[in-house]
Amino acid sequence: MTVKPRIALIPHASPTSPAARAALMENPGFGKVFSDHMVTITWSVERGWHDGAVKARAPFAIDPAAAVLHYAQEIFEGMKAYRTKDGLALFRPEENARRLNLSAERMAMPPIPEDLFIEAVETLVRIDADWVPEGDGSLYLRPFMFASEAFLGVRPASEYIFCVIASPVGAYFKGGYKAVTVWVSDDYTRAAPGGTGAAKCGGNYAASLIAQAEATRNGCDQVVFLDAAERRWIEELGGMNVFFVMDDKRIVTPPLGTILPGITRASIMKLAAEAGYTVEERLYGFDEWQADAKSGKLREAFACGTAAVIAGIGTVKFRDGSFAIGNSGDGEVTSQLRAKLVGVQRGTVKDDHGWVR
Ligand code: PMP
Repeated sequence: MTVKPRIALIPHASPTSPAARAALMENPGFGKVFSDHMVTITWSVERGWHDGAVKARAPFAIDPAAAVLHYAQEIFEGMKAYRTKDGLALFRPEENARRLNLSAERMAMPPIPEDLFIEAVETLVRIDADWVPEGDGSLYLRPFMFASEAFLGVRPASEYIFCVIASPVGAYFKGGYKAVTVWVSDDYTRAAPGGTGAAKCGGNYAASLIAQAEATRNGCDQVVFLDAAERRWIEELGGMNVFFVMDDKRIVTPPLGTILPGITRASIMKLAAEAGYTVEERLYGFDEWQADAKSGKLREAFACGTAAVIAGIGTVKFRDGSFAIGNSGDGEVTSQLRAKLVGVQRGTVKDDHGWVR
């Protein structure tokens, strides 16, 4: 008896030619170039997850009444495949599967079995292996799920599509790491207690765009959000978590709750503790940040996430002024932790935790 594969291959004739692919991958930027295939899996109340397929990447035909277009039932993940000396590698993909399911729970969407999520991601990476860049680049993977049911009532949809697409991306920092400048927003907040801050849902990002635009207008790379209740506590950046390195081998990072539980954040906490730092997950105020930067107690600050891995924060700007951190460059602890984490992801540093697959 043959077992029907959960993700069937639907053949197609015209993948990008090697020459066209090479041209597209020469300078891919971020999220603009896409690989040849996608994985889709459908969910319905009656059938659960079914019709898994890997096929030519193509637009969806969705009904204008599809619930996602009206009530934003949509969640996603972001992860990367790396080319290492031992082959293609994923970094902690089971953590992305778990987080997607936490997002699903918050957004009243169906969970996807973790092994099916990983099978979908691996199937796409295998079929589009030629799209994984050499060198410092990587293949960015975007698993996502949306409500496809055509129905305008406000309730959880009864049909969903899970999909994975892939996009080759270049090194985040071209020509060496450079410290980023951040804008602390005091008009906009990202998440309130009881809200969706810990979920990776599209709506969170829609709501953050105006604050990110304000940061850009003020000459900054990224926005820093404060808590919604007091506008006092540092939460996270638009798309990265944040760490503060103190002068006494302590490293502070805001606690989970209203922030996205970053996989890079969790990995850094572990590596930093193993390197002899005391890692404190605690509330850290913007007033404290300014005072600690001024007194020199704060040596370094950095942001972290899948896209940039670890980026030092050099300058902090806000409505009433700005201040610099440490030597405004890439601090010693920042670069030490980055070297370790990037090394594990790229297979040049021993993976003591079984993080690489
Ligand atoms: N916070 C936000 C709001 C994000 O969008 C991301 C990127 N997923 C992160 C933090 C970092 O998460 P990760 O380390 O899992 O990429």
